[in-house]
Amino acid sequence: MSTPGTAERPLCVAVIGAGPSGFYAVEAFLKTPGLNVRVDLFDRLPSPYGLARGGVAPDHQKIKAVTAVYDRVASDPRVRFYGNVKLGKDITVSDLRARYDQIVYAFGCESDRKMGIPGEDLKGSYSATDFVGWYNGHPDYRDFQFDLSCEAAVVVGIGNVAIDVVRILAQDPEVLNKTDIAAHAVSALRKSKVKRVYLLGRRGPVQAAFSPKEIEELGEIERADLIVKESEMVLDEVSKAGLSDASAKKNYDYLCEAAKKGAGSKDHKIFSRFSVSPVELVGKDGKVSAVKLVLNNLIPDGKGSVKCVAGDKTEMLDGVGLVFRSVGYRGIPVPGVPFDEKAGRVANDNGRVVVAAGGAVVPSEYVVGWAKRGPSGLIGTNRACSVATVATMVEDLKAGKLAQHPVDASIEATPRLLASKGAKVVTFAQWKSIDKLEVENGKKAGKIREKFTRVSEMLAAVDVPAVGPKA
Ligand code: NAP
Repeated sequence: MSTPGTAERPLCVAVIGAGPSGFYAVEAFLKTPGLNVRVDLFDRLPSPYGLARGGVAPDHQKIKAVTAVYDRVASDPRVRFYGNVKLGKDITVSDLRARYDQIVYAFGCESDRKMGIPGEDLKGSYSATDFVGWYNGHPDYRDFQFDLSCEAAVVVGIGNVAIDVVRILAQDPEVLNKTDIAAHAVSALRKSKVKRVYLLGRRGPVQAAFSPKEIEELGEIERADLIVKESEMVLDEVSKAGLSDASAKKNYDYLCEAAKKGAGSKDHKIFSRFSVSPVELVGKDGKVSAVKLVLNNLIPDGKGSVKCVAGDKTEMLDGVGLVFRSVGYRGIPVPGVPFDEKAGRVANDNGRVVVAAGGAVVPSEYVVGWAKRGPSGLIGTNRACSVATVATMVEDLKAGKLAQHPVDASIEATPRLLASKGAKVVTFAQWKSIDKLEVENGKKAGKIREKFTRVSEMLAAVDVPAVGPKA
């Protein structure tokens, strides 16, 4: 048998997850000189692009333009897209092992971290990731309901996701209605009574995880004032040293300017708070009604930054009916793929899947993106991450370190399997038809795009029956 990667026997690779990291892995394979490769790219949804479609905020269309690069990757004849095919349901890890020389897991982090405080499970307390999925029209969140009938909302965490959530809550829905925001989200936001949004950071402004551009956008919302407490801009010595980081300095300078402006006179208010932690969500009739905060002290963490320690003083934010925790995403275990429970991602050693954290390598299986590193970095960060893992894969291929089991690398192996299972596969050409319809429907509504928000609608749009017999 000839070695995989040659003209007689191309290397067969399966990439699971058609988000940014998955596409960058495919691209890295296509660009590897002298390698003959065939890549099958799977996604559980009929639509590709992962967080570039379901995570990036609707008013950040420039970031979404990156999907044009992914379209070019998908149009390469060496690539096949299998949309609407879920790992663990329509295809298993064993099925993949029997058909591919190498497998790349690129399924990101689909869940979120909890705060671990009393009252977190009250009605009105939600995860930011659910809200993001909902306003972005992700089918998993189509039927979620967010009670926006209160005047005050709290967003916990000061990363870019938190800022997106604050902006969507504070922005005029008619501004959002020109984007590709889900129609159901606009109708709910039009009825929203939320006037005050509190953004809560447990550490100081210098430790904020948001980007300067993101915090500046909060200050640019026409109907909202960004309110910052001058007293919370006073820095400890370690934080002062942290201003040597250009991004931290920009954030800090911007927040100091905002602090000088005072309360403002606009109808909506965004309160950006620092060195505070919610310690309890207080409930009334089973629903969040207030948030109890503790004021933190920041002390050196011995690693060049500061950590927060709860002080003696507390504060009550009354009249809060809505809380979004935005304290980071977390991976969820996928059947057949080793999971590092502590780190909340696929167990791996620099992109090579291992049986458990610190354990032996699982040959021929690899991981990229958030599933590899955890939920951090911008979309572009995933390119370098995927390039590195693919380089490792090529290195292992050259060193003869492939799994020692037979592989049916015939071009028909996967389509035959999926047909036998009754899977309703959506091809890339079919996705592009869905895409075209979404853009056309958007035009009619004066929007960039009107997304299909149910899988059944997407399948019907391209004549793939929504429910079919499973053989
Ligand atoms: P993130 O950047 O890791 O921010 C998480 C925030 O939660 C931090 O401020 C963290 O504070 C805080 N936090 C963690 N545990 C907490 C707790 N128990 N109580 C209070 N606060 C807590 O995560 P993210 O916002 O989910 O974003 C994920 C990645 O996507 C990031 O790399 C982000 O830049 C990226 N993203 C980018 C954009 C954009 O470019 N426009 C938009 C969205 C997301 P500590 O620092 O104190 O831990």
